[in-house]
Amino acid sequence: MSSCYILGSRVDVLTLAAAVDRVKEFIAAGTPHHIVTLNAEIAYRASREPELQAVINRAHLVTADGAGILWAARKLGTPLPERVTGIDLLQALAAEGARQGWRFFLYGAAPGVAKEAAARLQRENPGLVIAGTAHGYLSRDEMPRLIADIKAARPHILFVALGAPRQEYWIAAHLKELGVPVAVGVGGSFDVLAG
Ligand code: UDP
Repeated sequence: MSSCYILGSRVDVLTLAAAVDRVKEFIAAGTPHHIVTLNAEIAYRASREPELQAVINRAHLVTADGAGILWAARKLGTPLPERVTGIDLLQALAAEGARQGWRFFLYGAAPGVAKEAAARLQRENPGLVIAGTAHGYLSRDEMPRLIADIKAARPHILFVALGAPRQEYWIAAHLKELGVPVAVGVGGSFDVLAG
């Protein structure tokens, strides 16, 4: 897979369909994988925050979440085929997940929102398994419980909607102990789905 670098942050050159195929491979492998959907604002911030840039560049897949990234990639001579936003990925994976029997866990957004987003995904993708949800305003003391809940739910894919870059740091910090095959930061996607 080829990649380009925007202000030092890696972005992988692939379509939404190819991103879904990568997720299938990650799930088949079973080891933990981190997916970042990168927008221009976060690429800029990462250019000044080496720790964030390291998290992005260590991720197993980085997609272009926005027109700004596509524009920059074109200017750099490494055009990207299309945007692959967090919500695009979430919806495409829900369709595939319903076919494959994947278990989803939705973590993030205000209390009630992840549950509503999950209900909508299940309405639109009959058979989709939601193994659990949690809101995104838990205290530090509540973290061990959340980690235990996610582990017990054994999701194939964990969607984290805490906003960027909080979700990227959270995933990087917890991915190994969670042991989920795929964790992806999806920004405000649960709010959009819950409408
Ligand atoms: N959020 C959260 N916990 C926090 C801060 C934010 O769950 O401590 C949620 C917030 O409710 C919203 C999402 O993170 O659902 C951030 O959405 P936004 O559109 O700001 O993120 P972006 O898409 O810009 O990364």
